[in-house]
Amino acid sequence: MSILIVGAGFSGSVIAEQIARHTKKEVVVIDERDHLGGNCYTKRDAETNVIEHVYGPHIFNTDKQVLWDYLSNFCELVPFVNRVKAVYNGSVYSLPINLHTINQFFNSSFNPLEAAEFVSGLGDKSIVNPKNFEEQALAMIGKQLYEAFFYGYTKKQWGTEPRSLPATILKRLPVRFNYNDNYYANQFQGIPRNGYTEIFERMLDHKQIRVLLSTKFDSGFSLEEFEHVFYTGPIDAFFSFKYGRLGYRTVTFERGVALGDYQGNAVINYPEMSIPYTRIHEHKHFSPWERHEKSLYFKEFSKETQKGDVPFYPKRLEEDMVSLEKYQAEAKKLKRITFLGRLATYRYLDMQHVVEEALGVSRDFLKK
Ligand code: UDP
Repeated sequence: MSILIVGAGFSGSVIAEQIARHTKKEVVVIDERDHLGGNCYTKRDAETNVIEHVYGPHIFNTDKQVLWDYLSNFCELVPFVNRVKAVYNGSVYSLPINLHTINQFFNSSFNPLEAAEFVSGLGDKSIVNPKNFEEQALAMIGKQLYEAFFYGYTKKQWGTEPRSLPATILKRLPVRFNYNDNYYANQFQGIPRNGYTEIFERMLDHKQIRVLLSTKFDSGFSLEEFEHVFYTGPIDAFFSFKYGRLGYRTVTFERGVALGDYQGNAVINYPEMSIPYTRIHEHKHFSPWERHEKSLYFKEFSKETQKGDVPFYPKRLEEDMVSLEKYQAEAKKLKRITFLGRLATYRYLDMQHVVEEALGVSRDFLKK
């Protein structure tokens, strides 16, 4: 009996690759899209020849050398540092908030210690136990920096007041009292030289693996025919939304092409509410080792997910978590089906977390 894997993103592809490599089992991988790689899919844009991150920018970053080395089996990861800028009130600032941002914003020339003391003085001392995104931000950096860089961006991104969002979202972003403007703090950071799609092609290029694209999970698959199923699609869809739809934000992109250099950087954020998009990404800056005359860029807009939209960010509001628990209780009873990945576990996961989880799940499965 063979193994069925639903979804050809990182979760599904890593599992397929591991099972094919370590056993003699046949593996069938299906995906409803017409391409591999899930939201990590990249392709060369026909007009500019730039590598396009079709579902938005992806920069692989991790502190774990094993994960970096593992992916390096399937591509050449070129070190890349994401240095994000923000346009606010007619000025350009450096992100994540660092000493340059603070000194520019307050027209000062603090050293690290002075800046830390100053910003700590701005924090709202009446908030002892921050319960949400807004309280966490106000306690940490105070009203001015919060309103400039976080409030508008977050409200646009999540479509809700930051006080109804979990504090954990903010914890993704550091505040630094030095001039380090590397968006990520992890030791290993890079982008595959030829884009991400090559990783999936190489992972799945194995005689025991059969890939069926443009194939929906419900189109006649009987689970009994398979020894085990790894499901990486949305968990609510698996159970026909019987406990309701889990909330996701989705993003849409408005494409633009410019001659030369459009904005001079890979990512520029627009935290102001008066601008409808959250950020602009210019994709040739994600592959600075290539030269292109024309430049491809996208304005990114965020909206509520409707039927047929690609789900991006799990919202994890209270009502979502209630439904999720019901779905998970049912999922647990299905011994021959494993649910994994961002959509099947309904978590905000970076690529490194997805790869790590899939390697762990494969290891457990292979031990049996
Ligand atoms: N965020 C913000 N201002 C910014 C960038 C991010 O307020 O300029 C907040 C926003 O709520 C966002 C969260 O921080 O959802 C996490 O940001 P990150 O850049 O990690 O988001 P991702 O790259 O996953 O979209």
